[in-house]
Amino acid sequence: MSQGKGQGAEKVIECMKCGIVMELGNVEVTYLNSKFPIQLPKCPQCGLVYIPEELATGKMLEVEKALEDK
Ligand SMILES: [Zn+2]
Repeated sequence: MSQGKGQGAEKVIECMKCGIVMELGNVEVTYLNSKFPIQLPKCPQCGLVYIPEELATGKMLEVEKALEDK
């Protein structure tokens, strides 16, 4: 049901509380007892952070990989 406009690179996520578009921001997450910042959509108004389902369900392989690459 998406209104494809051709450039589907970035997916717009709205804050479920405010209904405004979230902006990417640095968010500190904890994984395996270490903290590190990643970029997640964050509501500029209420500060709510959107956690992608992959992240919420513990599938953080990409984040882990990003750490190793550094
Ligand atoms: Zn909000």
